[in-house]
Amino acid sequence: MKIKKETSIGNVIVGGGNPISIQSMLSCHPAQKQIVSKQLRELEEVGCDIVRIAVPDNEAVESIPYVLKSTNMPVVADIHFNAKLALASIKSGVHKLRMNPSNIKDKDAIGMVTKLAKQYSIPIRVGVNLGSIKNIQSEEDALEKMKQLLKSEIDILEQEDFTKIVLSAKCSKPKLNERINRWIDSNYNYPIHIGLTEAGSLLPGSIKTAIALKPLLDDGIGNTIRVSLTGELANEVNAARYLLQASDKMNGVVITSCPTCGRCKWDVKKYVSIVEKETASIRSSCTIAMMGCEVNGPGEASEADIGMAGSGGKAVLFCKGDIKRTGSTEEIFELLMEEIKKI
Ligand code: SF4
Repeated sequence: MKIKKETSIGNVIVGGGNPISIQSMLSCHPAQKQIVSKQLRELEEVGCDIVRIAVPDNEAVESIPYVLKSTNMPVVADIHFNAKLALASIKSGVHKLRMNPSNIKDKDAIGMVTKLAKQYSIPIRVGVNLGSIKNIQSEEDALEKMKQLLKSEIDILEQEDFTKIVLSAKCSKPKLNERINRWIDSNYNYPIHIGLTEAGSLLPGSIKTAIALKPLLDDGIGNTIRVSLTGELANEVNAARYLLQASDKMNGVVITSCPTCGRCKWDVKKYVSIVEKETASIRSSCTIAMMGCEVNGPGEASEADIGMAGSGGKAVLFCKGDIKRTGSTEEIFELLMEEIKKI
């Protein structure tokens, strides 16, 4: 693994020894103000670090100031084909561009974009997505074509003496995705944004992405991450966070909960989802156990810092396996939430 050059995206620094940042992307047009505000709020609540918006037209550019004032997250403008939109987005204050210079026919315009990006000190992410490559014959062919395309994008920027670059290469096949990212890592020292495209909905998409990205994370590859999922935006951030936590790349709250069985007499699922929401953006290490019953509860969760377990229609609060209080489920849950607030 090569240590990557540090690059700032607004107030977030990626590369070097900095933590891996979680990204997501608004699923609405930036001009849909109410939805924009709602989605930004949801992403911030679950601890998203960087947000991307599609900028397909002038109306989107005109909406950038509203997006910027509605969030503390750095905002990335995603632009295709149109240098004028890129220039206007930079002037509107976005913190990064996602743009492939090869999409822009006018070579003078590329120079203007890189010059302005330098002046505003913002990075440009260039990337390759297998979905945009035609006539793939085999995995080897796909890998070669992705390498060549990415290389040509980087060359265009470097010829303009622009090096505030972030790289990405994505596809929907875990093994190929891993191979192209390993190639990038060995050949460049620009920060890498990792993810798997068209991963699907929550369950299949999260599993497929975890399989694809875990070997890269284990080898220290990846400076920013997105888990692209169909559905609620918060799920993308939560899935990325769980993946980073399980890979020992991020501190946070780990919730240990049992699957429940015939011994369980309380609604573990309901209370676990409340705790998940409350603790999503906490970045201190803590393990919370939520167990269905006392038969195995405190014992099974003896490693947990705090937790609760059902007990004959009531519940118990425990710390490191020792029972501290007994009461109704509501009382014990309230005590648990008080403990959580101290984390
Ligand atoms: S902790 Fe109790 S309720 Fe949960 S699975 Fe184990 S035995 Fe069943």
